[in-house]
Amino acid sequence: MSYDLNMPIRQVRGVGEARAKQFAKLGVNTALDLLRHFPRTYENLNEIKFISELREGEDALIRARVRVPATLQFTRNRSARNITVYNAVAADDTGAIKITIFNRKYTAEALERGKEYLFKGRIEFDRGALTMSSPEIYPVNKAGSLRAVYSLTAGLTNNIVSGCVKKVLDEMDAADVDVLPAQVRAENGLADAAKCYRAIHFPKDYNDVTVARRRFVFEELFLFQLGLQMIKGRNRGLTGAPMGDADITPFTRSLPFELTEAQKRAVAEITGDMRGARPMQRLLQGDVGSGKTAVAAAAMFFAKQNGYQSVLMAPTEILAAQHFKTLSRFFEPLGVSVELLTGSTTAAKKRDIKARLADGAIDMLVSTHAVITDDTSFASLGLAVTDEQHRFGVRQRAALAAKSRSPHVLIMSATPIPRTLAMIMYGDLDISVLDSLPKGRGKISTYAVDGTYRSRIFNFIKKNVDEGRQAYLVCPLVEENEELDAASAKQYYEQLAQGVFRGYSVGLVYGKMPAREKDATMAAFAAGKISVLISTTVIEVGVDVPNASVMVIENAERYGLSQLHQLRGRIGRGQWDSFCVLISDQESAAERLQFMAKNSDGFKIAEKDLELRGPGDLIGKRQHGLPEFEIADLERDMNVFYDTLAAAKQTFESDPQLKKPGNAPLRAWISRMFSRTP
Ligand code: ADP
Ligand code: MG
Repeated sequence: MSYDLNMPIRQVRGVGEARAKQFAKLGVNTALDLLRHFPRTYENLNEIKFISELREGEDALIRARVRVPATLQFTRNRSARNITVYNAVAADDTGAIKITIFNRKYTAEALERGKEYLFKGRIEFDRGALTMSSPEIYPVNKAGSLRAVYSLTAGLTNNIVSGCVKKVLDEMDAADVDVLPAQVRAENGLADAAKCYRAIHFPKDYNDVTVARRRFVFEELFLFQLGLQMIKGRNRGLTGAPMGDADITPFTRSLPFELTEAQKRAVAEITGDMRGARPMQRLLQGDVGSGKTAVAAAAMFFAKQNGYQSVLMAPTEILAAQHFKTLSRFFEPLGVSVELLTGSTTAAKKRDIKARLADGAIDMLVSTHAVITDDTSFASLGLAVTDEQHRFGVRQRAALAAKSRSPHVLIMSATPIPRTLAMIMYGDLDISVLDSLPKGRGKISTYAVDGTYRSRIFNFIKKNVDEGRQAYLVCPLVEENEELDAASAKQYYEQLAQGVFRGYSVGLVYGKMPAREKDATMAAFAAGKISVLISTTVIEVGVDVPNASVMVIENAERYGLSQLHQLRGRIGRGQWDSFCVLISDQESAAERLQFMAKNSDGFKIAEKDLELRGPGDLIGKRQHGLPEFEIADLERDMNVFYDTLAAAKQTFESDPQLKKPGNAPLRAWISRMFSRTP
């Protein structure tokens, strides 16, 4: 019988109840999880120092002979904690050092007089004596080797983890553990799994680690890509809402502007998909202000002309309200019925809207993601547009696609994402890009300054307001705590409204504010009744007030480049020249902020952000939709990623359902990977 790597960790020899619980805290529940609890880093038992060269405070490895075995120094058992301290003395040819061991009786007593060991630990001076306290102790034959260092939890030591890993490695059946088909391994020069598990946990040298790591990175990205291919394939098998040719010129003619070439191209791609038999799964990418809403509206109108309903979902109520306003303006003159459904819609109105959706009286619905649930039924939903802002991960999308009655799906992404990253996040989607902005926009100039400019900046705001413009002022951030940020936003608002902006109409919005108030303030700002809008980053996404021409951002160093770009995208939407001022007193941020001042292309900024901060940060820490990889690191492993694309495509094309016997492990693995909640 082969060794089952999916068995509970409790069944690994030597792992008891208590230990299994400790492992569970690390997310290690099976033997396989344990093998995939990859080392965090490696300790190099290589650079051995002489005792005479040791410095206080450094972590050092020495090779020394025990001169005085450990003796119990004192026990402090009156206090809450029992602390026993053992002291020993060890020496090499250059000097002697005191070795202090806390609590570890057996470790201390095992040290033999006259025998040589490796000691690794922090160097201190204890009452003038050179001391290494709580060292890791190894036999001398370990010199020159690498030792895996794991993430741990209370009660689990590195040695325990290592020991358990070793048991699994020694007992498992080498032939049975490889998820990658032999052919894929051969074509991509990857070693087999059993060998790599051993190498990554017990490497002889760094080369072992590199070879094993590449294999696991490849495996992870390959499986992910293959999973995306399968989702895409499954969607292809669904029947959508096939539409016929329809005339959308009544819509385009009613617009106050002509669509840009990029918009026209995107509309053609989208309506092309919607005429197909399978449901569209398309991402619409475009820089801030590139006019994604008009493209979505064209698609919605196309659905309407074909007798289908459509829904546009936004992540926040502010945005939903704005989209509703835009669509109403576009469509009411054309006799299309548009409704808004959000969390703050009254119960009676909600009931009414749901009834009219179900009987087909409503053509287009604007809503927040949260409000559309399973019990919202449409008479004939043909198109679902989400203004996503990355709040939807691949896995959620997979779930959604499986559940819905497969309308066409269009996802609008608010942040330009470098192509490579988009391929990872949205590998299951077709992509349309709006790569140019509408003409006739004013110029945006950006300045990065320090706080000494603040009063001059406030005067500049007043001057612009006096000329009829409006301004955004983004509050200082206290920390990532909404309560505290709200408090400081209010304080900042009061200080300015009663101080430098006395006599001006000043408004405040922040995340935790009741939706009704927030909407009212935004509406007042949009209507020009508020001149200076003080806010937290809730205005970041999508807000569109063309008359606003100044954006001042306090604590600019706290934001990522892409986020600053989003904020800056709120201005420069009208015909006036606009000004963005980034205030920061932090020297270390100067270069980044200067980059913002010099660059306006969102894709370029996103690339820089990716380079500076990594993909997780680039698109926001929480719910960013990027899969959490166990070992792959998208910054380091882009080249491996490209290799996996071709391999995944080939595997998928030769066996789309992974039905071949050799592919069974792949199938099991992928279904686990995509069903796990992120
Ligand atoms: P985003 O892509 O950031 O969502 P919006 O859809 O909010 O951009 O559009 C930004 C602004 O540009 C809106 O005021 C919109 O009316 C305007 N706009 C969109 N398309 C065009 C165009 N082709 N010509 C001129 N203005 C346009
Ligand atoms: Mg938008």
